Amino acid sequence: MKLDHSFAEELTALASEVKPNKLINSHLVAFNQELATELGLPTEWQEETELFNTLYTQEGLLNRRTVAQKYGGHQFGHWNPELGDGRGLLLAEAIDKQKQRWDLHLKGAGPTPYSRFADGRAVLRSTIREYLASEALFYLGIPTSRALCLITSDEPVYREKQERAAKMIRVCQSHLRFGHFEYFYHSKQPQKLQSLFDYCFKYHFTECAKAESPYLALLEKIVQDTAKLIAKWQAFGFNHGVMNTDNMSIHGITFDYGPYAFLDDFEPTFICNHSDPQGRYSFDSQPGVGLWNLNALAQSFTPYLEIEQIKQALSTYEGILLKEYSTLMHHKLGLVPSAANSETHAQIINVWLDMLAAEKKDYSVTFRQLCQFDILDDNQNLRDQFINRERFDDWAKQYALALSKQGIRQTQRQTQMRHHNPHIMLRNYLAQQVIDRAEEGNFEMFHQFIAALKKPYEEIEEYQKFSAPPPDWGKQLEISCSS
Ligand code: AMP
Ligand code: MG
Repeated sequence: MKLDHSFAEELTALASEVKPNKLINSHLVAFNQELATELGLPTEWQEETELFNTLYTQEGLLNRRTVAQKYGGHQFGHWNPELGDGRGLLLAEAIDKQKQRWDLHLKGAGPTPYSRFADGRAVLRSTIREYLASEALFYLGIPTSRALCLITSDEPVYREKQERAAKMIRVCQSHLRFGHFEYFYHSKQPQKLQSLFDYCFKYHFTECAKAESPYLALLEKIVQDTAKLIAKWQAFGFNHGVMNTDNMSIHGITFDYGPYAFLDDFEPTFICNHSDPQGRYSFDSQPGVGLWNLNALAQSFTPYLEIEQIKQALSTYEGILLKEYSTLMHHKLGLVPSAANSETHAQIINVWLDMLAAEKKDYSVTFRQLCQFDILDDNQNLRDQFINRERFDDWAKQYALALSKQGIRQTQRQTQMRHHNPHIMLRNYLAQQVIDRAEEGNFEMFHQFIAALKKPYEEIEEYQKFSAPPPDWGKQLEISCSS
């Protein structure tokens, strides 16, 4: 394993050295061995004492050059130049066997120059939520930061009530955000903006660097990756909740988890963030917000590109997102796309979604039930889920016809559909149960849920309890934004 500190060494204007400090009665309660192996990290790190020595002692490998990053961001549409890692530290970059670079970032590390009036801490509740989400999205195939470990403590922190501080190490290609570029652009520091771009080309976007117009290639790549990411969120029913530009990764991955939710009932206008009464970041606003954010980022490209080039790059967003979304929806409904059937299929998909929305059906459960659809049968079980049976019957006729034209064996199609419609979902009510137990020191359910989330498409007896839609209390959970 090789560790590097390119960000800390080369982007000094964005890096403030801060050392992590240990919390009262700290314990390592989860270590993601699979991820550690993929990255080629030392196996000893799974031992608490080893990991803590690495993190907290002067000679520790993860203690040598730890920095908080400076950035800005558009928060709810308003530019804020005052942001940065207020409670996170970049520990090091691990370089794996394929020479891919991975940031190791400690969240909940303590105050930094960017903490403003906050305490630099993360609570156990939000740390567990981030850990669960990173694993859940990863195993669903949605690009995301990952969770390497979870550390608990008895250090009190004060949110709406007293809670306990926790930490996690998260891993992703880099923590470069839209807000890093915007910060240099809006603070009128063209040379530093240039050095940030140079850094990106050197370490992360080497392919773009080789293009005829590297800046255009980079913008196009970010547009494309963001569009594909958000298409996946929409297809799996994921609501991020705080799509400020400081929470947008230039790698097109999901990160900075807050009051996120996977939809239970299919309500397209669902808002997971209770601090967002206007619904700026509601579920169905996400594709539009993605483009808004890319527009904000694109400002930073104006010293390098003509306006027409920027417009051209941004104009590809909608098409890429819709194409990806349509592909995912075809998979979910077991439909095989072709030019000849595209309109019919689009209609089948749209009417199905309208039916789910009109009757607020549970998004993942109903899709999973659809995997059973039999073109030779009246599909009584599925039909009974809907109050408007006439509408269901009309739709089912069209759907059965479309499926029968494909000439794929029923069982084969059903099996394929089960690989695109998860049985186990990260639901807020389950996350809450995990948190309630963890706050009492019991991590058994946490570990079991993680194991279940690794196999979201399988029906395993032991994990059946994680497949149920929420009881009524579980639908009304208010997820606090103060994390
Ligand atoms: P978020 O909404 O979590 O992305 O955070 C927005 C900004 O607030 C970032 O600059 C964070 O680093 C900072 N922040 C959030 N919570 C805390 C905290 N408890 N202490 C210090 N800074 C924080
Ligand atoms: Mg953030």
